[in-house]
Amino acid sequence: MPLPQIVIVGAPNVGKSRLFNRLARKRRSVVHSMPGTTRDRLEARVSLGDREFLLIDTGGIAAGSGGSALQREIEHQAIEAAREGDLVLLVVDLKAGVTALDRELATRILRLGKPVLLVLNKVDAAARASANRPDAWRLGLGEGVEISAEHSIGVEELIEALAARLPAGERSAPAEPEAIPVAIVGRPNAGKSSLFNQLLGSQRALVSAQPGTTHDRLEGMFEYRGQRYRLIDTAGLRRRSRIREPLEALTAALARGVIDRSAIALLVLDASRGIDRQDLAVGGLALRTYRPLLVALNKVDLLQPALLTRTRAHALRQFGFARFAPQVPVSALTGQGIPALKRMLARIWQEGGKRVSTGPLNKLLSRFGERLPGSPRRHRVRPLYATQEGIHPPSFVVFAHLSGKPHFAYRRAFENFLRKKLELEHTPIVLRFRSQRG
Ligand code: GDP
Repeated sequence: MPLPQIVIVGAPNVGKSRLFNRLARKRRSVVHSMPGTTRDRLEARVSLGDREFLLIDTGGIAAGSGGSALQREIEHQAIEAAREGDLVLLVVDLKAGVTALDRELATRILRLGKPVLLVLNKVDAAARASANRPDAWRLGLGEGVEISAEHSIGVEELIEALAARLPAGERSAPAEPEAIPVAIVGRPNAGKSSLFNQLLGSQRALVSAQPGTTHDRLEGMFEYRGQRYRLIDTAGLRRRSRIREPLEALTAALARGVIDRSAIALLVLDASRGIDRQDLAVGGLALRTYRPLLVALNKVDLLQPALLTRTRAHALRQFGFARFAPQVPVSALTGQGIPALKRMLARIWQEGGKRVSTGPLNKLLSRFGERLPGSPRRHRVRPLYATQEGIHPPSFVVFAHLSGKPHFAYRRAFENFLRKKLELEHTPIVLRFRSQRG
């Protein structure tokens, strides 16, 4: 059965094969090389806990060629390997610093839309590493994991980071365009199954029951405006609620299970019953894992308009901790509000995938700088530049002269400003401030 593939990509001499050997040897694997046309491609079966994956080194360009032809060849082969992989490791040499080739590779890997982990090698050269670090962050691939493959520093941390990013289980078939997994969560009788059926509508035929060891779930696909969504319902809840476990813990546990597998959490509330702790807990779960949260206020057919207005206001207050989470009144019984719910799902996904290039982002930053809210001097933030690190959720890092932590009010004002200007209204966003001297 095909194993998940981790592909190591990077410019020559950044330490790819050293890293390959570290990971391969450490995990007692069988290494074999596959002679290619212009270079050998190294592969190793590597175990990580109870999981196995295939590690692939794209290095080893044949000697002889040179100049820009060589560069093009490296890029081509690396990108082709990355396209096939499940996770890409882009290795950058922090001692030598970030090069144009690194930047080119980073951009092309980002465009593949694959999970990618930035590996900053040669951190043993501490002074040069710290000078070159900001350049590496500006690649737009996050902070990365810092290692010295040579001196075996940070390798354990790297392995942990790999494990966290590897797809669970076997390789997924890459043929189908990706369906966005949406977890339907909420209390028993909130109307999850009814909503599941409404959303699938005539596409109901695609439903499959997936009995699991820990909890059963029901899955179904629907398509909306050319995008497929995979709904995951916690079908097991009703069956399991006959068992002794406290219902509250069960709701949370099941919700956690499906939320972990989803890209968007759809929380179903029974608007005729109001909101309780469990609902808020599930909302909090989505929030902690930076999942977009969409709240369906269900059973509005049971509510008089005036009561609906009050209920909506109440729900907004209750979910004040997740201000970005939109709330859509629906009736899973009559189908009222279902088109609006689908529209909102699509919008959430679109916002989460937004990319802002560094130029426009920094123009915004300078405009915000001018309107700094008056915060205590010791909390003063002088933003220098910002860059987007990733999507789903949109993540930004702001480099700034910082004395201490940025003031809460400053953070919030900055976040609101970004959300408004970048039209990121309904997606969680990640905002990190990094201290930068000079
Ligand atoms: P689940 O436990 O969350 O999956 O909830 P179900 O989908 O099984 O629904 C629980 C009960 O609420 C059922 O009797 C449904 O018919 C009813 N129900 C679900 N949605 C609505 C709705 O929008 N309006 C009304 N009036 N009843 C609903």
